[in-house]
Amino acid sequence: MNDAARFAVHTATTKPWDLETAVRKYAEAGVAGISVWKEALEGHDAAKAGAMIRSAGLSAVSLVRGGFFPAALAAVRRERIRDNERLIRVASALGAPLIVLVCGADPKVRIADARAQVEAGIEVILPFAEAEGVSLAIEPLHPMYAGDRSVINTLAEANDLCERFGSPSLGVAVDVFHVWWDPALEAQIARAGRLGLIKAFHVCDWKTPVLDMLEDRGLMGEGCIDIPLIRGWVEAAGFNGFVEVEIFSRRFWAMDQDAWLRMILGALREHV
Ligand code: ZN
Repeated sequence: MNDAARFAVHTATTKPWDLETAVRKYAEAGVAGISVWKEALEGHDAAKAGAMIRSAGLSAVSLVRGGFFPAALAAVRRERIRDNERLIRVASALGAPLIVLVCGADPKVRIADARAQVEAGIEVILPFAEAEGVSLAIEPLHPMYAGDRSVINTLAEANDLCERFGSPSLGVAVDVFHVWWDPALEAQIARAGRLGLIKAFHVCDWKTPVLDMLEDRGLMGEGCIDIPLIRGWVEAAGFNGFVEVEIFSRRFWAMDQDAWLRMILGALREHV
């Protein structure tokens, strides 16, 4: 399989485009897959969106993103579970085989308790996902997000969680932005491979300084992540799925998005 047949783009990467435009432009550019953000699906019927994606010749790689389990109030935690169950039904209707989980955090919940709430949440939704034929990928987030977005911050923790559940429907998403700094990364990618856990691989770059925690990701090649090295580890571990471009950047969203997509494809060929 040549590389272009394995490139996918997240709709959030080209946020100014609506879903129809993203599907058309990606297909015209030779991108093979699309990961759909739930915000891009608003106002769409999921089954019709899935049909549109497939008829353009694209694969629906994943639906992004579920999770967000921890909360101080039990009623809020229950509502989050219902949100996840709804999202699993949407993924099924869309024809996306995978939901990426941003596990969540709440600054009012002690971190050990929040981690237990993540595990408890996955325990509730996993059978539902299995029944719908949708897999879940725990995406460890960079520790800078431990206070408010995710208390699962290393691939080791994500692997541990998956190992405790032992379900083929639960795995991990390796996003270079979040894990590139981790001295245990190579070993934990190999471990995830042995356990058959790697369900997704996301690329962007870590530019310095990062001016915004959420919306200042770099294009591959402009930062300090050795993406080919990490890709090599992931593929040596047996992963042969899509290389997904996931870049949230006010800088790039402000550009002409056709030019931005051309830059992405160039960077994929040169720096991934
Ligand atoms: Zn990601």
